[in-house]
Amino acid sequence: MKQPIKIDYDLRNQLNDSLHMPLECYQCGSCTANCSLNSIRENKITIRKIFHQAQIGVKPDKLVWDCASCKFCEIRCPRQVDIVDTINELRKHAYRRREIPQEFEPLLWNILEDGNPFGESQSLRFNWAKNLEVSTDLSDKDVLLYIGCANSYDPRLQKVVRSLVNILKKGNINFGLLGNLERCSGEAIIPTGEEHYLDVLIQDNVDEFNKYDISKIVTVSPHSFDIFKRLYPEFGLNIEVQHYTQLIQDLIDKSKIQLFKTEFSQVTYHDPCYLSRYHGIIDEPRNIISSIPNIDLVEMKNTKSNSICCGGGGGQIFRDIEQDNRISNLRIKEAHATNSEAILTSCPYCIQNFEDSIKVNQNSLVINDIIELVAKSMKLEVK
Ligand code: SF4
Ligand code: SF4
Repeated sequence: MKQPIKIDYDLRNQLNDSLHMPLECYQCGSCTANCSLNSIRENKITIRKIFHQAQIGVKPDKLVWDCASCKFCEIRCPRQVDIVDTINELRKHAYRRREIPQEFEPLLWNILEDGNPFGESQSLRFNWAKNLEVSTDLSDKDVLLYIGCANSYDPRLQKVVRSLVNILKKGNINFGLLGNLERCSGEAIIPTGEEHYLDVLIQDNVDEFNKYDISKIVTVSPHSFDIFKRLYPEFGLNIEVQHYTQLIQDLIDKSKIQLFKTEFSQVTYHDPCYLSRYHGIIDEPRNIISSIPNIDLVEMKNTKSNSICCGGGGGQIFRDIEQDNRISNLRIKEAHATNSEAILTSCPYCIQNFEDSIKVNQNSLVINDIIELVAKSMKLEVK
């Protein structure tokens, strides 16, 4: 006999009091039908069902942890429900009940103890900059370049940030770094549902940034860019924040850097969700690519604000996702179909996911960050 549904009235009241309770959701199911991850998963992420459970006070399905926070479904919701914020709210409730996925526990301890989710030593955070002659004295600098955790420790991504440093030097940007004082932005904490340490970490970072007389913070990752723009102002950050694509476009517009042709004649570009759908940064990367001589940019089937995600957001980059469930494989197929020599992007998580998919699928596409393309085009030698 079918078990009756158990309603938890405390949970229902708590959820109803939440800022993002999806009461506006009228159960059309468009989100479930449009979830980018569902196009490859057998075990579908059923947002409609999860929101119905939340509305009536039933503990949401575990699939709430599988969402990559890409907002692909959100822009198609006829009721404009803040789907990702609601999912994060449901995760906060699960965290309070001590019901979070196992992988997230060490991640939180690592950030607390080492300032990064990977458990790498804080004292090695700045090792990527060895022999680069870059300053950590911010007393006379205009710009703070915020590197981020993945870029600081992953050897593949370290090459990207080393290139960016060389580009900014050539462009005569008066910038500095925090070096070993830099810590996680807190973006990796959001998908775990933890709230209190997140606030402490953000406040510490804001206090550190506010010590310096800088006019701008430039981020490498769209994820740091997003949290600095969305959450940090509430904690007293009053400094302009830019993603590096905006700064490089500015350097090109002001003719501060010179670009020459590269080995590529045809490329495609993958929009990171946290730039395109979250912040409308769609033209800048394309303008940079188009400024390089002899390159054609060919768009993929799903592009710009309709781009499908790489699968790394919402904490998924820290989880062991089964090969068959990786949306990055599908994205690589879309890129391959454009007959391009390279897929470009502008986010460390996208680079990591695509590199994995290329290896597994033995695809010949080159994966480059836009930074790497620009460095090649400037004939900068980066080791
Ligand atoms: S698309 Fe919007 S209204 Fe429709 S089920 Fe999903 S959240 Fe509810
Ligand atoms: S935000 Fe993205 S991953 Fe999450 S349910 Fe919507 S489409 Fe799926």
